[in-house]
Amino acid sequence: MYSKKEEIFPEDVFQCNMCGDCCKGFGGTYVNEDEITAISRFLNIESALFTEKYCQKNRTGMVLSQKDDGYCIFWDTKCTIHPVKPHMCNAWPFIEAVVKDISNWRIMAVMCPGIRTDFPDGLVASCVQKVIDNRKK
Ligand code: SF4
Ligand code: SF4
Repeated sequence: MYSKKEEIFPEDVFQCNMCGDCCKGFGGTYVNEDEITAISRFLNIESALFTEKYCQKNRTGMVLSQKDDGYCIFWDTKCTIHPVKPHMCNAWPFIEAVVKDISNWRIMAVMCPGIRTDFPDGLVASCVQKVIDNRKK
C-alpha cells in the first residue's frame, strides 16, 4: 500500500510479472529500421527475410506479426528476442503518453498487472518523466 512519500521510483510503481499480457493483441509493436537490423542480426537472417517472415505493414509503419492466438510472433512463454526487443517493449510502461495524460497510466494498468495505481498521479507522472529523461542521457 502507498505510504506518503515525496518521491517514488520505477520499482515502486511497476514490477513486471512476466505474464505476457502486453505481448498479446495490443495495437501492434512498431519496429524501425535500426530495430529491424538488430533483431535480424540476433536471429542471424537478412533484414528483408526478417520483415517478410515476422513483420506486417500497417497504416503508420512496420509492426511485428502476431500469431493466431493474438500473441506477438516472438512470444513463447517469454520474449524470445529479449536482448534486442523493440523500444516500445523496453520502454513500457514509462512512456510519453503517460506524461501527456496521466489517465493513460490507469488505462494501461487495466491490461498490465505489473502497474500500481495506488500512488498519487503527480508522483507517478514525475517518476515516469525521470525514467524518460534518464533514457535520453
Ligand atoms: S502485461 Fe505488464 S506485467 Fe505482464 S508481461 Fe507485460 S509488462 Fe509485464
Ligand atoms: S518483442 Fe518480445 S516483449 Fe515485445 S511484444 Fe514481442 S514478445 Fe513481447
